[in-house]
Amino acid sequence: MSIDDMKYRTEELNEEQIPDVEVVVPETEYRQIPFSGAEAENKPGWRIHLELAQSPQNRMRLDVNGEVVLGRSPEIEDAVDLSQFEATLLGVSRQHMMLRPTVSHLYATDLGSTNGTLRNGRSIGVRTPYPLSDGDTITLGRLKLILRIIERPHFQTGVLEKKVDLADALTEIAKSITSQLDLEQVLNQMVETAMTLTAAGEASIWLIDELSGDLFLEAQRGIEDETIQWMRIPINEDTLAGKVIKTGRPLRVWRQPGEEQIKVKTNYLVEALVYIPLALGGVTFGVLSTTHRQLGKRFDKRDERLLRAIADFAAIAIQNARTLQATDAALSRRYKELSALNELARAVSSSLDLDTVYEVLLGQVNNHWPVESLSLCLLDEQGTRLNKFRRSTDPPARGNRPFALNEGIIGYVAQSGEVVMTNKPVEHEAYNPFVDNLNGSSPSSMACVPLRVKGNVVGVLTLFNKNDGPFTARDTDRLQAFANPVAAAVENARLFKESERQRAAIQATAHTLSQPLLIIDESGDVLVANDAANALLETNMAQLFEAISSGIGQTLEREIGTETYLTTSEHLDNVGTIVVMQNITYVKKLEADREDFLHMLSHDLKNPLTAITGWKSLLERTMVLDERGERYLKQIGVAVDRMLVMIEQLLYTVTDNQSISLVKKPLNFNKIVERVEDDVAGAALHKSISLSSEIAGEPYDIEADENRLYHMLLNLVDNAIKYSPKGTTVFVKVDYTPEQITINVLDEGPGIPEDSLDKVFEKYFRGDGAKSQPGSGLGLSAVKVTAVAHDGEIHVKNRPEGGAHFIVTLPASLRVT
Ligand code: ADP
Repeated sequence: MSIDDMKYRTEELNEEQIPDVEVVVPETEYRQIPFSGAEAENKPGWRIHLELAQSPQNRMRLDVNGEVVLGRSPEIEDAVDLSQFEATLLGVSRQHMMLRPTVSHLYATDLGSTNGTLRNGRSIGVRTPYPLSDGDTITLGRLKLILRIIERPHFQTGVLEKKVDLADALTEIAKSITSQLDLEQVLNQMVETAMTLTAAGEASIWLIDELSGDLFLEAQRGIEDETIQWMRIPINEDTLAGKVIKTGRPLRVWRQPGEEQIKVKTNYLVEALVYIPLALGGVTFGVLSTTHRQLGKRFDKRDERLLRAIADFAAIAIQNARTLQATDAALSRRYKELSALNELARAVSSSLDLDTVYEVLLGQVNNHWPVESLSLCLLDEQGTRLNKFRRSTDPPARGNRPFALNEGIIGYVAQSGEVVMTNKPVEHEAYNPFVDNLNGSSPSSMACVPLRVKGNVVGVLTLFNKNDGPFTARDTDRLQAFANPVAAAVENARLFKESERQRAAIQATAHTLSQPLLIIDESGDVLVANDAANALLETNMAQLFEAISSGIGQTLEREIGTETYLTTSEHLDNVGTIVVMQNITYVKKLEADREDFLHMLSHDLKNPLTAITGWKSLLERTMVLDERGERYLKQIGVAVDRMLVMIEQLLYTVTDNQSISLVKKPLNFNKIVERVEDDVAGAALHKSISLSSEIAGEPYDIEADENRLYHMLLNLVDNAIKYSPKGTTVFVKVDYTPEQITINVLDEGPGIPEDSLDKVFEKYFRGDGAKSQPGSGLGLSAVKVTAVAHDGEIHVKNRPEGGAHFIVTLPASLRVT
């Protein structure tokens, strides 16, 4: 059938003529998968045939309304068993392929079959859904099947069946199409919709190429023939599409029984087609086409009407998208500028090195600006002169000297902070050929903007010689946008250089110290470490950091490796931790030597004293002495005892933990009081000091170290006598309660200055008033050691009426049971 023979079967439609949606009456039984029964009715279904390629009569009819597995596993429910096609023999896997229907597509996925799946001779990805079209050849292993799509789901099938809802559906389509601004998406959506709504085998859009005047395929669905994709249709009376364009009228044709197929183009014959012109404002610029290639298929009036509605909306959408594409060029220019700026900003924030920032700036300007050159001038630290920035890798430039703020256009911009844009620089009043030049020659145009940091000008950014015309205000606006990140970079680089300088100064100072010095920043990185510290970091890093972190804000002795360090760590805000260390290993050694020496000395001193005591008791036992002799002998005993006490005290000075071992036995503390009174009687008499004592409560024996308690009380009473003036009284009171024994020693002396009350028990402490008296400052510390060793306590206070009041409490737990 030639085109001229073809009679137009399309007439203008009116609402009344639109029939209700036709219900296709299936001529054969279709198998419902995976659902059957009532549920399947509500699912959009694909009605397909799977035909054996060699003999199409051997086919399978399916209504696909859910995912379905194709293979040879009759035992799996809802699976399609391909056994009728000799599947086993042809290498079909048990679960070979999956069909997954959606409203718009029927997808195929290979399920990891042994022999693979092909679609039109090409392998489809394993587990990647692949859309199928009518007429596709699907090869499972060696089984070749042809897919025939008899019916595809109607867009909102249930809804479309009522006339009133058709309008709703169209409105939806209109909205979705016209809200798209991307031309490609608009066209794809259009053909998709056209195909779905009319159940067409193929849908396509052809637009007029403005240059050649031919129609070319812009979007399509369902067309597999590649030659069609590159086909051009001339717009003339010889083609159906050409006719539609020329007349601006839709065309709906189908093959009549006995007639030939309709020729779209040589070798492209169809059973039925609808062509709808795409027109706007009286101008037709394309064609929307749907075709059927399957025998007996045709489009009805309803299909045509739907397509015309789609075409109307699409025409608007296409024009919208085209308008946008025009504005898009401007937009994309702006976008490029923005991304250039972004890159610059990124370079700035990630680099503290001006060279890098300059390189990025140069690259961005070269890429996005038709200018001949760029210069960056920076103010010196005094803010009086400008220097042309040169990368450290740039060769030295001849005649490149710093210049003053009043020199040249660039100097003017730096001084005034104003933007200067000139297309005749030489005529500008501030022009200076030395400053405002381009490799020695005078520029033809210049755009200069100041670089500002917190309001202060730190430099000037200049573009020279625009290639494509004069500089405009737009150029300076853009240049200012570039200036901001560059100014920030200049400042960052400067600050970094400054902090580097400071760090170098600290480092240099640190290196003059022989003792370790470290500065560690907030994140734990070592900022500064001198040689001594580096040596420690190398050999004992873990121990060193442990020592530092456990003692921030303190000075502590720390063993690191084989050495002992006095370590002081201080935290400083915004700096980190400063650690100063002093190796005190030698001090420690000296201390140990002194300790050894004192132990040896006390031992050596005790030996002769023991001998004296021995001779004394021999005398007492073997000789009959008169009263004087006995008194002298007793004095010798007292002196020896005191000597022993002093040796004990000497030993206290070397024992750090002050713990002593006690020789405990049951004793009566009252006896100790008497003994002390006896022993100090002479000294008291010498200073006309009267001694008195009182025992209160119910006395009980205690289990304690008699010798040490004796020396404890002796020390306290001794001090009372020593520091009190003549003619006063020293009073000892022992108070027994069921909880404790309280020993009070009171005097009428000067008392103890309030600020020294808590110091008198420290080793070597001697009050100011004590300097005229002999003493070592060890007595009270020994007293405290004794009290504490007996689980007791010692306190001192000044009496309201004057004088010191020492209180020792011993717990009743010492009581002999
Ligand atoms: P020493 O008496 O050898 O100086 P102590 O340890 O016994 O050492 O005493 C420490 C200091 O406490 C004395 O130097 C003195 O200043 C002060 N002190 C001790 N007892 C008295 C007291 N009864 N009255 C005033 N000051 C005292």
